[in-house]
Amino acid sequence: SPEVLAKYQPVIGLEVHVQLLTETKAFCGCVNRYGGEPNTHVCPTCLGLPGALPVLNRRAVELAVLAAKAIHCEIRETSIFSRKNYFYPDSPKGYQISQFDRPIAEHGWIDVPALDAVGAEVTKRIGITRLHMEEDAGKSLHDGFGDSVSRTYIDLNRCGTPLVEIVSEPDLRTPDEAFEYLTRLKEILLYTGVSDCNKEEGSLRCDANVSVMLKGAERFGTKAEVKNVNSFRYIRAAVEYEIERQVEVLESGGRVAQESRLWNNAEGRTFSMRSKEQAHDYRYFPEPDLPPLVVGETWQREILTALPELPEARRARMIAEYEISAQDAMTLTATRAFADRFEVAAKRAKSPKRVASLLTSELTMRLRLAGLEQEQSPVSMEGLVLAADLAESGELSSKMLKQLLDTSFA
Ligand code: ADP
Ligand code: MG
Ligand code: ZN
Repeated sequence: SPEVLAKYQPVIGLEVHVQLLTETKAFCGCVNRYGGEPNTHVCPTCLGLPGALPVLNRRAVELAVLAAKAIHCEIRETSIFSRKNYFYPDSPKGYQISQFDRPIAEHGWIDVPALDAVGAEVTKRIGITRLHMEEDAGKSLHDGFGDSVSRTYIDLNRCGTPLVEIVSEPDLRTPDEAFEYLTRLKEILLYTGVSDCNKEEGSLRCDANVSVMLKGAERFGTKAEVKNVNSFRYIRAAVEYEIERQVEVLESGGRVAQESRLWNNAEGRTFSMRSKEQAHDYRYFPEPDLPPLVVGETWQREILTALPELPEARRARMIAEYEISAQDAMTLTATRAFADRFEVAAKRAKSPKRVASLLTSELTMRLRLAGLEQEQSPVSMEGLVLAADLAESGELSSKMLKQLLDTSFA
């Protein structure tokens, strides 16, 4: 019940894996591309054949640094790749090249819209513990082969895809905050262009760590980890479910098990996958086939020249520069391309504010009704600026303006 739930304070920390948009894989020259005929984007290195040696992809480092800077992390000048040892059928080397105690970046943050204790809108700063580089595994495929017996097939095309893992501090307190954090993080990653964040293709994957404690308690409760949920809405639902489940366990006198769980969307609940007692000991040790990674000041500065204005800052500037509302600024900066298009138009218009409102209301409404994306608009930005100018100078009434939009849209 709500009264019982209200006695507890949820604590949430997120681990997000992001595929980097490089031409080639992290440690070999194979193409880094989603899909393809199974086991065609492979070579001795990403297949883990004996004697094949990894060579670090310079571009992957640059994208990792760019992502790290965009979330306000400090870059470690000399970071170390480590082997994370475990057996898994789609990981042929028997280990994953990752980073352990000396990751490339730490101590960042993201600002997230949240509600305070009395329900007022506030901005909350969520800490980022670390961002480290690692490689993706291949894929196990179970369905669609028309087998009479159940078989598993292995596709290693994804093996060695460059990833960054971004680990948050346990600073999130509600399912909504988790949802907002992910939305903001994805927006930043898209703006910097380090990833396409395509969730259907697994470019952005999230594990959610959840615990509950009695309000006012000094120590966090035991956490459970929900693995690999691929939609922000499902993550919110999974976190919500976990909070209720854990409260129920505690209220009935039990203890929350430290374990990994899986989200079942059809049933709207999580299931135990493995407990921490069966958990892996990864036996991390420094990767002997790769030297320490050194990203000196000069290289960092070079990389930083590619850092664009980030969504938060861009919204603030646009509100000041064009006198638009916070709501309009939010809509207009939904993607970098959309914001770019608006700004080109705004600079030509008599009233940028009017362009903004036409774009976010009249045009967006018509696009939505027609099931079209912004880029597919039959009304050009030039046309919109022209219409806004005519309205601004009083040559078009607001009724005429709507008719004009209808006509040109049709
Ligand atoms: P592990 O060693 O089990 O992976 P970490 O300490 O590395 O645990 O934390 C992993 C993630 O879990 C981080 O995002 C962190 O913020 C989060 N986390 C840690 N402790 C808790 C807790 N008690 N409740 C919720 N989340 C937590
Ligand atoms: Mg973990
Ligand atoms: Zn390869």
